[in-house]
Amino acid sequence: MTHALEMINGIGPTIASKLRGIGITSIEALAVTPPRFISEATGISEKVAIQLCKNARELLNITFITADEYFKRRLSIGKITTGCKALDNLLDGGIETGAITEFAGEFGTGKTQIAHQLSVTVQLPKEEGGLEGATLYVDTEGTFRPERIVQIAPRFNLDGKEALRNIVFARAYNSDHQMLIIDEASNVIEEHNVKLIVVDSLIGHFRGEFPGRENLALRQQKLNRHIRQLLSLADAYNLAVIVTNQVMANPAIFFGNPNKPAGGHVLAHNCTYRVWLRKAKGNKRVARIFDSPMHPEAECTFQINEIGIVDIEE
Ligand code: ADP
Ligand code: MG
Repeated sequence: MTHALEMINGIGPTIASKLRGIGITSIEALAVTPPRFISEATGISEKVAIQLCKNARELLNITFITADEYFKRRLSIGKITTGCKALDNLLDGGIETGAITEFAGEFGTGKTQIAHQLSVTVQLPKEEGGLEGATLYVDTEGTFRPERIVQIAPRFNLDGKEALRNIVFARAYNSDHQMLIIDEASNVIEEHNVKLIVVDSLIGHFRGEFPGRENLALRQQKLNRHIRQLLSLADAYNLAVIVTNQVMANPAIFFGNPNKPAGGHVLAHNCTYRVWLRKAKGNKRVARIFDSPMHPEAECTFQINEIGIVDIEE
């Protein structure tokens, strides 16, 4: 699973790393990329590139699997605890690898706090709900706070400084920069054993740089490419991806008008799990899961305090 590209005839570590270097991280991605582009971008001869694409397509054609094999494959999926029982129950154990989980909500609903907390819990041993892995944290809004990690870590019996060392941080200053970070993520993922990618927030830059209807097509196209890339990393490395999405208060507007907020239907088609967050009385937060292929629509409540996301005490 982890080194999908190497399953292809003719691909060893050198070619695989060249391909990953230009963002081709899966057999699927290779199969659909024009050989000429691969040749120009990597220096691999066009003849070889044509053969590799052909091999990739052949391999895909023979990967029909029966549902019980698919079920077995699903058993290799890892889960990361959120550190909050109510949220874990809602998500059937935590955040899944091989998938994108979206946290959508208004400003201040806890999206960034959840991202911080998962960056810590992914480091936990498997018995404690983690994956003993690191986080690649892509911050587009400048809201990542190392201090917060140091506050959250001790609660999970992790040393704050140690926890910080397991978070690879990248600040994305615009949408191209954000896409480039993900294009080049493969090396970092392998080097640090990254098991969680955070993109907080996913579409802020895209929305700002491509405003209005006239830019909608281009924006959605770019966003789509970005999300597909995240999905292929999730798949190739069996890691979890969480993205945040700042949206307006009224979910009815969100569902009613796919252009508002930006990314509406591109997200809807590509995020495996979607969690809607809202504020409730007494400084509580409500999380609702929607659009899930396997979870019932359900809600839970949690709180945010100085040690992070916590259950509400009865
Ligand atoms: P957003 O959904 O906009 O990303 P955040 O995840 O940043 O929102 O959540 C912000 C909320 O988290 C604030 O309203 C605050 O109540 C809470 N919060 C953040 N840091 C702390 C802290 N150190 N102690 C208590 N609550 C905090
Ligand atoms: Mg935030």
